[in-house]
Amino acid sequence: MTRLTPDAGEASQLLGRIVYFHALLIEGAIAVLEPASPGPACCAHASARSAGHRVRGTWPAPPWTVLGEVAATMPDWYRPCPSAGPGCCACCAIAAAAAAVGAGWADAECRAYYRDPDLFLASACGTAAAARISAAAAAILQIGGCQALAAQAAEAFRPVPVTTGELPLTGELLALWDPQASAGPAPVVSWLNHCASLADARKVLLARRNGR
Ligand SMILES: [Zn+2]
Ligand SMILES: [Zn+2]
Repeated sequence: MTRLTPDAGEASQLLGRIVYFHALLIEGAIAVLEPASPGPACCAHASARSAGHRVRGTWPAPPWTVLGEVAATMPDWYRPCPSAGPGCCACCAIAAAAAAVGAGWADAECRAYYRDPDLFLASACGTAAAARISAAAAAILQIGGCQALAAQAAEAFRPVPVTTGELPLTGELLALWDPQASAGPAPVVSWLNHCASLADARKVLLARRNGR
C-alpha cells in the first residue's frame, strides 16, 4: 500500500507553514469585503437530514482548525457548510477550507505576478488543494463514513494545475501535500522564505525568468 504523506507531525508543520505564508504574503494582498457565503452541506449535515447516517471524526479537530481560520479571510473562495460547527464532517470541512486556501492563494498570485485573474486556474488549484489536504487529514485522523472521501482521495493523485515556476506559493502548497511525495515534506521553494510580500516574489520570478 502506498504510504500517504504527510504523517501527523509533518501535517502539523505544513499547517503552520500555511498560516505563516498566508499572514506574510497573502492576507495583505486581498480585500475582505463580506463574510463567506455558505456552500453545500457537509456529508454529516446532509445525511443527518436524510438517513440518520453518522460520520466519525467531527470538526473542529486541532491543528486542522487553522485552515478554517485562514479560509475565512478569503470569502470569495470559502464555501463552508451552512451549519458549520462542531457537528460537521471533519473531512468535508477540511476540504472546503483547503479549497479556499488553494484557490485564494492562486488568485492572489495570478493578480500579483500576471495582473490578470485566472478564475478557472484558481478554481482548479482549489480542487487540488482540497483533495490533497483532505485525503491526508482523513488518513491521519482516521475519518470514516465521509461520502465525499473516495472522490477526494482519487483526485489527490491527479497531476496539479500549476508548477512552482508559475505560482511558487500555490505550487509549493500542492507539492508539499502530494500523497506520493517520496521523501516526506520539505520546503521546495526556499527563496520564498526571503520574501516579505507578493511583490518581492514577483521580482524573484522575473529575475529567474530573465536568467539573473
Ligand atoms: Zn456540516
Ligand atoms: Zn464528509
